[in-house]
Amino acid sequence: MLTCVGIGAGPANLSLACQLEAAGADALFLDRKPGSSWHEGMQIDGVKLQVSIFKDLVTLADPKSPYSFLSYLHENKRLYHFLNAQYDAVSRREFANYIAWVSQRLPSVGFDESVREVLFDGTFCIRTDKRTLRARNVSIAVGKTPKVPSFIEDKLCASLFHSADFTMKGRALGGKRVVIVGGGQSGAEVFLDCISRRGADAPAHVHWVSSRSNFLPIDDSPFTNDLFMPCQVAHFERQDAQAREAYLRENMLASDGISLCTLRAIYQKLYERRFIDGQEGVATLSPNRRVTMAAQTPTHWLLGIRHKGGGGEELVCADTVVFATGYRDGDTPFLDGLRDRLDHVGGEIRVDEDYAAVWDGPANRSVFVQNAARGQKGLADPNLSLLAWRAQRIVHRILGRAEAASAHPSFIAWTSEEPRVDALKFA
Ligand SMILES: Cc1cc2nc3c(=O)[nH]c(=O)nc-3n(C[C@H](O)[C@H](O)[C@H](O)COP(=O)(O)OP(=O)(O)OC[C@H]3O[C@@H](n4cnc5c(N)ncnc54)[C@H](O)[C@@H]3O)c2cc1C
Repeated sequence: MLTCVGIGAGPANLSLACQLEAAGADALFLDRKPGSSWHEGMQIDGVKLQVSIFKDLVTLADPKSPYSFLSYLHENKRLYHFLNAQYDAVSRREFANYIAWVSQRLPSVGFDESVREVLFDGTFCIRTDKRTLRARNVSIAVGKTPKVPSFIEDKLCASLFHSADFTMKGRALGGKRVVIVGGGQSGAEVFLDCISRRGADAPAHVHWVSSRSNFLPIDDSPFTNDLFMPCQVAHFERQDAQAREAYLRENMLASDGISLCTLRAIYQKLYERRFIDGQEGVATLSPNRRVTMAAQTPTHWLLGIRHKGGGGEELVCADTVVFATGYRDGDTPFLDGLRDRLDHVGGEIRVDEDYAAVWDGPANRSVFVQNAARGQKGLADPNLSLLAWRAQRIVHRILGRAEAASAHPSFIAWTSEEPRVDALKFA
């Protein structure tokens, strides 16, 4: 009988695997992919992590862990080189290599095995495509699934696809009219890649359409980063559903904006193309517009694009269309046998303060849900920022340990009831 079976071995469950191993717990983490990879379809040359490398799999929960990014550099004898390279941010490729390095070192992590069903009869029975396992706890971290507008879903193909497939399907764009839909980081990276191609590889034209009012940067300033602290999760949880929704809307650019370095690179590339290379009309940038329809003709795609400020529908021809329109929560068909026993809120499985699903089963048996509770836990839920802290909470819950205070309170008094730092000092 295992202490925990993890479904998925992306960063969320890998962090848990690292910390359960350190605690000596008997666990197994399974991933359906043939081997470790991280956003393979968006491993475009030069793309970078959008967070500090301290937000690796373990450091913020356990800086002494042998699975930190620093340990990875040290063991691979490149710590000095990394320092001297003076990166502003770690490359997405290197982060993928780091994740692969961690998963190779963890005997509890296995690939090429898909979980098909989870049932409960006092303990969890986990059926995979290869075997049946028994565990006292289950941790679900299946990540996100690419999302496109509903009128596109049945049209996806080699010439109209989600940005998650860009490095596979977006190779041969030479001489083509490319339309990119979506004004977040993925759309920006795809656009930059397209306008950077030269000679026979260069598209004939690149059109970037966004429903946002402009091509807006991520807010990476200090007080905004305080939104990605553990104490912020507690504050967020205490608000009612309406306030939580408003908060997520108002603070969207804290996590869902374009890195300043990407925006600068795009602007500089447009400048070079127009004023140095003398190429007019390489690209069109169309913010504040929505793609309203896509029709395939025998030779190309016809897209309807509507300005949000009103006016008629503009028709645009494209040979290739890339939808960088975000992600939704990953599917969990293996939970169908348990779903009625789990509480739900706002379309999500309701989780408690330790990310355990609220259900009608015994308190010492839990289904933990990671990266699928943004509506309950706030902005940091889908990204790397609090992943190590979240996994630590899960470990403490599984092992019945008391929660250790992880950080001083924020400088910001998020609620009037919260103790202020100066008050604590003199208490
Ligand atoms: C292009 C891109 C770049 C990003 N960059 C950043 C960044 O710079 N900073 C940041 O903070 N966040 C970033 N994020 C967001 C987030 O950090 C990552 O998506 C992160 O990978 C989430 O980890 P995860 O483990 O929850 O999910 P995933 O990494 O998606 O892993 C889930 C795993 O579950 C497996 N799986 C699914 N179903 C099953 C099943 N039935 N059986 C077995 N295995 C299954 C999948 O194969 C997958 O490997 C980025 C997201 C994207 C899309």
